[in-house]
Amino acid sequence: MRALAALALAALALAAAACADDAPADGPDAAATCRAPTAAPPWLDAYLATTIARLSGAADVAPGLRLADRATVERRAAARRFALDELAAAGVAAALDDYGTGANVTAELPATSGAGGPLVLVGAHLDSVAGSPGADDNASGAAAVLAAARMLAEVACRDRPVRFVLFDQEEVGLIGSTYLAGALRQAGAAVAAVHTVDQIGWDADGDRRFEIEQPTAALFAEYQAAAATLGVAVTSTAGGRTDHQAFREAGFAAVGVSEEFTGGDTTPHYHAATDTAATLHLPFVALGARLVALVIAREVGAP
Ligand SMILES: [Zn+2]
Repeated sequence: MRALAALALAALALAAAACADDAPADGPDAAATCRAPTAAPPWLDAYLATTIARLSGAADVAPGLRLADRATVERRAAARRFALDELAAAGVAAALDDYGTGANVTAELPATSGAGGPLVLVGAHLDSVAGSPGADDNASGAAAVLAAARMLAEVACRDRPVRFVLFDQEEVGLIGSTYLAGALRQAGAAVAAVHTVDQIGWDADGDRRFEIEQPTAALFAEYQAAAATLGVAVTSTAGGRTDHQAFREAGFAAVGVSEEFTGGDTTPHYHAATDTAATLHLPFVALGARLVALVIAREVGAP
């Protein structure tokens, strides 16, 4: 019921936004524009800080409720409700995709022009391991995907649909992403690229360097170009063991975005009770969100 209500609200918001091509966007944040987001949105830093705090137990995720982790059935559901509400507030139609033992949150921005080409998918896992608030792993990636949805909703020219997914149960075997990858393959879905974001909250050496995991040559070129625009650095690595792996195994072009996990500039609080919001390098999270949003905006044809 809650998912249906959220979907209906989001659809209404979307319809309102679709009527106003050059008018201010439906959200409170900025006017819609036909430009890829090369500048930082004014709301971004505060949005990421608040979202990470709420997902990782530094603030209430719902009135009177703090998440010690996102590993139990109840806490995963609470995190999903939060994500559904955030997407609806951004004007992106969102719903639960329940696969039995868990559920992904999915949201889609339709193409605004043309027939709509193959799907661009961007996701992050929403769950954490038991006993860890999971601020870096992976409230950082989930917040970046929610922020990217807001940024992409403000881009008024998209020649491909963009689907945002918050995966469940990554930490117990890539279950949510494996389910979705299989469903897309079975449906014969046309997918241009899959981007997954996992742990982008740590940059102790301050080199603003992201690892781009197992990209195709074309995808790495896209990240290099966006990184040059934003003044960040990217390294191609063979890193895996997270959601993009599930899509690659299902035959899709897929890439992961991470802090320097392979390079060693990665959180020392990995899977620990100390993976808290206070330990994160929030400006780095913001750069990661902007990097992903810019790559995707250009993938969907925004100049
Ligand atoms: Zn993770």
